[in-house]
Amino acid sequence: MQIRTEGIVIKELRFKETSKILTIYTKDYGKVHAMARGAYRPKSQLIANTQPFSYNEYLFFKGRNFYYINQGDIIDSFYSIRENINRVMYGSYILELIELSTLEEDKNEKLFLLLQKGLTVLSELDEDFLKFIISYELKYISFLGYRPSLDRCVVCNRKSFKSFKFSINRGGIVCSSCFSTEPCCEYMDIIMYKAMKALLYTPLDKVSSIKIPKDTTFKLHEIMVKYILNRIERKGFNSLNMLKSMKNNGGV
Ligand SMILES: [Zn+2]
Repeated sequence: MQIRTEGIVIKELRFKETSKILTIYTKDYGKVHAMARGAYRPKSQLIANTQPFSYNEYLFFKGRNFYYINQGDIIDSFYSIRENINRVMYGSYILELIELSTLEEDKNEKLFLLLQKGLTVLSELDEDFLKFIISYELKYISFLGYRPSLDRCVVCNRKSFKSFKFSINRGGIVCSSCFSTEPCCEYMDIIMYKAMKALLYTPLDKVSSIKIPKDTTFKLHEIMVKYILNRIERKGFNSLNMLKSMKNNGGV
């Protein structure tokens, strides 16, 4: 069976001498595993279409265990992501997120469009990576069905309160009368709260216009990572561990 769909390469694995097994997030079929035969041959026509980040229109043959790439036409190589270490690191995190949190052949077009938009914005980003990535995380987890509840206390439903925390378990803010009985609550002040709301609802390509103090972005990112890991039932992200050890070594 021949099928045609757009897709973005999220992972590559060498297979035998010259082939690759790719994980591709496609617009019409969700995450698929695809064999690119001979992709490592110097003259292969698939070299550009089988690199992580590259965005292509593919013609697949669907076999029993794999999709086989018959043809790939490049839509955007996102080459400029590879020209900047921060773009590569945060880009790898974006790819790892989708790799770890989606099931095979589970179509989610919103997620695909977010991935595509995220890589597009990232490919031109020079600063404030964390602000961008928090906004991406908030949208991503929302499209998975876990949008944080920010308008009322997730326990008692009250709408107005002075102080609050963020509950990882319940995925939203908890008011001061409720947080003493809630486990896994994260510190959150009004600046963090407003920043989280702004980053959730502002389109990715407009995020750079929002002003957020640096330490607020650090704290928010920590909360988001905990929240995402809790929801997708994972222990950690290799890409973020790598980023951390690079920053500790003064690399970035
Ligand atoms: Zn409450």
